[in-house]
Amino acid sequence: MATDSSISIKTPEELKIMREAGAILASVVREIKCSLKSGMTTREVDQKAEELIEAHKVIPAFKGYRGFPCCVCLSVNDEVVHGIPGDRILKDGDIASVDVGIIYKGYYSDTAMTVGIGTVRKDLQRLMDVTLESLLEGIDQARAGNHLSDISHAVQKYVEASQFSVVREFVGHGIGKHLHEDPEIPNFGPPHKGPVLKEGMVLAIEPMVNFGKAPTKIMTDGWTVVTEDGNPSAHFEHTIAIGKDVAEVLTK
Ligand code: MG
Repeated sequence: MATDSSISIKTPEELKIMREAGAILASVVREIKCSLKSGMTTREVDQKAEELIEAHKVIPAFKGYRGFPCCVCLSVNDEVVHGIPGDRILKDGDIASVDVGIIYKGYYSDTAMTVGIGTVRKDLQRLMDVTLESLLEGIDQARAGNHLSDISHAVQKYVEASQFSVVREFVGHGIGKHLHEDPEIPNFGPPHKGPVLKEGMVLAIEPMVNFGKAPTKIMTDGWTVVTEDGNPSAHFEHTIAIGKDVAEVLTK
């Protein structure tokens, strides 16, 4: 567990840049969402994302990160996170998590949303709704004076009350001059543990929620995380800044 001192506190100037980065990224993701349709390959989605990122004159954060080949992670149905865009064709009824990061003036921003393609099953729509709502529950706990695990606990409580499972193997993270900074932010755990949150900390909170059981495994491509039981999974993420009172969602 990270100590308080290893979590960077951003200056007002840094926060201003990260706010601008978040606004750009939010508009990129909105535009990707509007472009998604049945019949598209996941590679075409990535190409669209690359065009949008270039149009905004920012740098894709994921491309080349530890050798990841694309601008977005696209994780469809039983894929949880880190799906590599390719020949897979999006079909009516699929749910697709689109995870995108950018670098702007030396600072990172990171967000993800899960989108239904065409008409999705009601229970899968509920999975997506609960995942987004659990993120908002977590963000509500991201307040100065709270402990880090208050975020984790709020997410887990909300998800499990809705009869879904929280992924344990992958976590949220601090963010700033690096994509992944301290602290790690699990989506589960008891409340009131870990570092105390302070104004100026910037966090990427990202619940990954499984329709069935929690365990996941990594495919032979070394990246794509799937649910072990083959059931669908959803993922939402925002980059947020701890404020005086409530958190500011930078990627809204
Ligand atoms: Mg992230």
